[in-house]
Amino acid sequence: MNDPSQHFDCLIVGAGHGGAQAAIQLRQLGFAGSIAIVGEEPELPYERPPLSKEFLAGDKGFERLLIRLPAFWAEREVTMLASTRVVAVDAAAHQVTAENGRTIGYGSLIWAGGGAPRRLTCEGHDLKGVHAVRTRADVDQLRAELSGTRHVAVIGGGYIGLEAAAVLTKFGKAVTIFEAQERVLARVAGEPLSHFFEAEHRAHGVEVLTGVTVMALRGDTAGRVAGVVLADGRTLAADMAIVGIGIVPAVAALVAAGAAAPDGPPGGVLVDDHCRTSLPDIFAIGDCAAHVSAFAAGATIRLESVQNANDMAGVVARALTGSPRPYHAVPWFWSNQYDLRLQTVGLSTGHDATVLRGDPAARAFSLVYLKQGRVVALDCVNAVKDYVQGKALVEHGVAVPPDALADAATPLKTLHPGA
Ligand code: NAP
Repeated sequence: MNDPSQHFDCLIVGAGHGGAQAAIQLRQLGFAGSIAIVGEEPELPYERPPLSKEFLAGDKGFERLLIRLPAFWAEREVTMLASTRVVAVDAAAHQVTAENGRTIGYGSLIWAGGGAPRRLTCEGHDLKGVHAVRTRADVDQLRAELSGTRHVAVIGGGYIGLEAAAVLTKFGKAVTIFEAQERVLARVAGEPLSHFFEAEHRAHGVEVLTGVTVMALRGDTAGRVAGVVLADGRTLAADMAIVGIGIVPAVAALVAAGAAAPDGPPGGVLVDDHCRTSLPDIFAIGDCAAHVSAFAAGATIRLESVQNANDMAGVVARALTGSPRPYHAVPWFWSNQYDLRLQTVGLSTGHDATVLRGDPAARAFSLVYLKQGRVVALDCVNAVKDYVQGKALVEHGVAVPPDALADAATPLKTLHPGA
């Protein structure tokens, strides 16, 4: 029997950064209706970035990852429906169905489903000791096996892979990174930055293999991973594998309900500049929301970042409280590896020139990306000032002569016409 009380004025599917922020901002903006957050995991909403950093390292306990303490949600009357996986959406009936058959009605639906880690499909992908890093449970499991582990294969040289490699090296593990592209961070950063991080990892004893194809994971007699087989015939020993090869946006239920979605990349579901999907009263935010971005020359993109999830949550909260404001936020990202803090502002995709500011050998520098003379992005390594001051250059697409950008003694704020 369905519980007749299971109807919420605003139902949020997804208890990540986007879902939690949507509820927080709705209440801040005075939304008085009932709100529920449905989450697949058993936990209250928590921060994911530390999973591959401080939480994996054991430097931060789980309680410190919670986005808000339990009392906050109770005081704000936000109902938490944990351990609940939504598998179907009926847009006409304004209700969703969970895996256990339970139906929940809604006035407005905010889909903040994020994505699931892409899994390897090769032989041995399901051996014991093969881990993703997306949830607390993933990292708890991985950490529980660490003491008996000597050699970790990190498959994928993206943020997850590099951050995990940095932590595991500190634990004294022998780490090998297997990256399919010719360089690490190929999807998100320019060559000089990729090569800088490759060199840093190698200097810390990590073996970095690029341009390699993992053909299979070999198992031992106990069904635990024992080695990585490459297309060139080599087999490298590993008694644990961490797979960080991207995510698959979790939108199957929305697409099945008829939500418009891109034909190919970037995947996800299409949203307008108020994060509305093509279905009535259904919004989508965060990793799974494909949107037109002024910071990508008007291309339709998805952004997998905390910034995007939080800012889109604000856009929906405004739309639902009668103070709409279209989404227009400069993308930013960060990553910590060893004692390096990488901060990125803007999107470098499609850049036609790069300028190096500072000296990578000094381990503090920035890479500035230009398109037709205008600054579109900066990657700043241990260079907080450049990151903070460069934001305005990206936001306003300021044209700056490369010579001026290259002079690290000239603060970026002085290169802005409004300065
Ligand atoms: P990612 O950033 O997409 O990087 C995955 C990398 O693995 C890509 O370079 C990818 O190459 C490569 N790859 C794909 N298939 C492979 C294979 N079979 N063998 C070897 N390499 C392969 O994804 P991620 O590192 O898994 O991160 C997952 C999500 O968490 C992303 O949304 C990421 O932005 C987010 N995250 C962010 C941070 C941060 O901002 N600091 C930290 C951790 C996680 P192709 O591009 O060719 O597929």
